[in-house]
Amino acid sequence: MTAPYTLQSDAPLRELNTLRVAAKARWLATVRDPAALPDLLGRQEFTGLPVLVLGLGSNVLFAADFEGLVLRPAWRDVRISGDEGDAALVRAEAGLGWDALVDWTLAQQLSGLENLALIPGLVGAAPIQNIGAYGAEVSEVITAVEAWDRRDSTLAMLPCLECRFGYRDSIFKQEPDRWIVTAVDFRLPRNREPNLGYTGLRDELAALKLSQPTAAQVAQAVRRLRRRKLPDPEFLPNAGSFFKNPLVPAGLADALAAAHPGLPVHASSEGSSKLSAAWLIEACGLKGIREGDCGVSAQHALVLVNHGSASGAELLALARHVADSVELRFGVRLEPEPRIVGASFR
Ligand SMILES: Cc1cc2nc3c(=O)[nH]c(=O)nc-3n(C[C@H](O)[C@H](O)[C@H](O)COP(=O)(O)OP(=O)(O)OC[C@H]3O[C@@H](n4cnc5c(N)ncnc54)[C@H](O)[C@@H]3O)c2cc1C
Repeated sequence: MTAPYTLQSDAPLRELNTLRVAAKARWLATVRDPAALPDLLGRQEFTGLPVLVLGLGSNVLFAADFEGLVLRPAWRDVRISGDEGDAALVRAEAGLGWDALVDWTLAQQLSGLENLALIPGLVGAAPIQNIGAYGAEVSEVITAVEAWDRRDSTLAMLPCLECRFGYRDSIFKQEPDRWIVTAVDFRLPRNREPNLGYTGLRDELAALKLSQPTAAQVAQAVRRLRRRKLPDPEFLPNAGSFFKNPLVPAGLADALAAAHPGLPVHASSEGSSKLSAAWLIEACGLKGIREGDCGVSAQHALVLVNHGSASGAELLALARHVADSVELRFGVRLEPEPRIVGASFR
């Protein structure tokens, strides 16, 4: 019988984050069975130590070593858990690869995840920042999230409404020391009109001569777009968008757009407006800059890249420089999207 978890001390993390930043964890646990969590977390050597759940490491920046327990979920089952006729209920476990889940659902003739194809990471991380791309957010198809509650030492089921999903936000992101997501429940339609609200996606489908695309064809178009637009972390380590698009009061957005023609502004919820962080960074002349081994991608201004052996602290310094420059020029403060481990952003 395989052990429910393995433990390593003083574990190197460089290969476990897509920015390829060298850092160490005092302890690293790879967990194959979520039922082992209470036993693992209760071990004496971890008393009082912080815990960091790590998926694929595609949305973290290690600014320092982690003096605690890094926990990697490696349970990864997926199944149809219910049938509602026009939709299926799907349960996917935390350690499954996100894009593997997208492929699996498409093979079952289910739609709902196609706009989110090729986002790196594991299923358990998807609700943390409510992953989104090409006009869709994962919270639109999540019915509930199962998570180990470290505060109350219980396994909780949080219905979608209790997850407090927002733009790149959730209860899990707001309370990172409390939750370990163990599985995600989805409701996925069998025959849904594709979500083609995003102009770039419509253009890509038109270029592919697909006027009535299936969900699989939408995923194919999304993958083509992503491969073209974003640097591949395999070849140029990065964590995707390093900054969120800032939400500002509509009045401020209008004033900025009037003063800076070309600034993309999108309406958002609750009367606020979303500005394009990439545009703001590019307007500051920062796209493609390089300092030592740290840089801003020449392909996409939102992406910070590691050209070789940049440290987490160096990348953080560059990120602060980018945010400071945007704030000085436009009076808008950018917030980082990845979790910064071992330092605060400000
Ligand atoms: C090239 C590239 C493109 C990207 N494009 C997008 C995009 O289009 N849209 C988007 O939203 N994101 C994007 N991202 C960011 C990233 O892929 C997502 O945030 C993804 O969900 C992170 O998954 P992960 O497994 O790598 O999580 P990690 O980076 O390992 O962790 C991210 C955060 O989630 C927490 N976490 C992870 N798993 C769990 C769990 N089971 N329980 C509790 N907490 C957990 C971690 O503690 C950390 O705070 C991109 C990243 C890259 C490198």
